[in-house]
Amino acid sequence: GSADLDCDLLVLGAGPGGYSAAFRAADLGLKVVLVERYATLGGVCLNVGCIPSKALLHVAAVMDEVKHFASLGVSFAEPTVDINKLRTHKEKVVGKLTGGLAAMAKMRKVTTVRGIGQFVGANHLQVDETAGAQGQEKTGKSQTIAFKTCIIAAGSQAVRLPFMPDDPRVVDSTGALALKEVPKRMLILGGGIIGLEMGTVYSTLGARLDVVEMMDGLMQGADRDLVKIWQKMNAPRFDNIMLKTKTVGAKATKAGIEVTFAAAEEGGTAPAPQTYDLVLQAVGRTPNGKKLGAEKAGVSVSDRGFIPVDIQMRTNVPHIFAIGDIVGQPMLAHKAVHEAHVAAEVIAGELQGNKELASAAFNARVIPSVAYTDPEVAWVGLTEDQAKAQGIKVKKGLFPWNASGRAIANGRDEGVTKLLFDDSPEAHGHGKILGGGMVGTHAGDMIGEIALAIEMGADAVDIGKTIHPHPTLGESIGMAAEVAHGSCTDLP
Ligand code: FAD
Repeated sequence: GSADLDCDLLVLGAGPGGYSAAFRAADLGLKVVLVERYATLGGVCLNVGCIPSKALLHVAAVMDEVKHFASLGVSFAEPTVDINKLRTHKEKVVGKLTGGLAAMAKMRKVTTVRGIGQFVGANHLQVDETAGAQGQEKTGKSQTIAFKTCIIAAGSQAVRLPFMPDDPRVVDSTGALALKEVPKRMLILGGGIIGLEMGTVYSTLGARLDVVEMMDGLMQGADRDLVKIWQKMNAPRFDNIMLKTKTVGAKATKAGIEVTFAAAEEGGTAPAPQTYDLVLQAVGRTPNGKKLGAEKAGVSVSDRGFIPVDIQMRTNVPHIFAIGDIVGQPMLAHKAVHEAHVAAEVIAGELQGNKELASAAFNARVIPSVAYTDPEVAWVGLTEDQAKAQGIKVKKGLFPWNASGRAIANGRDEGVTKLLFDDSPEAHGHGKILGGGMVGTHAGDMIGEIALAIEMGADAVDIGKTIHPHPTLGESIGMAAEVAHGSCTDLP
């Protein structure tokens, strides 16, 4: 059919998956069009996710750190917060990064098209032009783009509970990041990473927190011993931590949002209803797969809106690929970026007859997770709780940071580093590392080393004999390996 624009590769969605795929493909010589409904590139992660949340968490961490300085003999005045300035700072951080992406797209001659994309065939996408930061409005203009190949990187969005009233005091993470004002009482619906990160920011700024979670613990996925340390440090932020509890109703009243709860399990007791100034819905994210007209291109979408792909990120339609949040868990930016590179390389390889590129595949052994709370909780690969549940025999090396010179010097020795090694009979006492977790300041910055060790198939001796600089928090990884290997020195 006729098209207004044509290309080798059309990328739908400009989040970490989409822009990474577009840039890699352009670097490999393809003519690339990148379609995005937002005003800026960067998707959820840069605009309303990873980056703005970390800008605010950094400020919160410094404010909290300063409080504890009094016990070290250095006192500061109570901080005063200019919320408008803080919001502007966050917006500047985001603007710097999204502006940088726009420049990089231009440099690589990636054509960006603004609007909502919908498939109208297996080789055509219609784009309805949008306006507004998040593409809320349509301008009425539209165009059709013809593509040889396509990568769907349309991401996910926050789940909304159907009974939540439409009220400015009920927000999702995007609304919370808008940082309009600091509530007195805030309910976090869902005790996962996103909710707890935003809760940390608001509580440091002065809000009292409640959290409600269906499961029997916060921060699911992380080992309970690590979460326990985070929880002990963070208990003062919360009035109520409601576990094994469902939210079943909510009503907007003059006094606030009145929320009712029920026990998640039969026989459990339900907490009394409570009224909040702000309710943050952080009960998970749902993929955007059902909103793309994918059926017009013949692309299969699951009931839940995920797009199934193979290890080359290919959908059931051979020239259409999908990456990032829309293909499944874990919904993390670094996963999206690696999948993006695979899809772009396979496509370039196939279009250009380059067999090596065309054989690219996503075969990461592990994908790390980080909660950027205070302290941070980070984990990668097998967890101890999983090992127990699956009956996998592991040798554990646990290094408590109260034996780390640097952690003590920092006044933050509550942390722990834990490594797990294969202890099956076949390993003959030299088992490879299967997983690791850390709780403590900067844990997220250090977990990459454990991921590398797993990818390289390192054992406890490899890690323990690797000389880590002293005194650093990262040393705790070498120490934990030595503990597992049974040759722990007592370097302070
Ligand atoms: P997205 O980033 O969701 O991008 C998809 C893009 O597609 C969007 O820009 C959307 O506007 C566009 N789009 C969708 N449909 C259409 C259409 N039909 N037409 C045109 N454009 C369309 N992950 C981490 O790894 N670390 C973190 O610290 C972290 N923090 C987070 C904090 C918050 C508050 C949230 C909400 C998420 C966080 N995440 C974090 C998750 C991370 O943001 C996602 O995993 C990541 O953005 C997924 O990238 P993606 O490319 O798959 O999709």
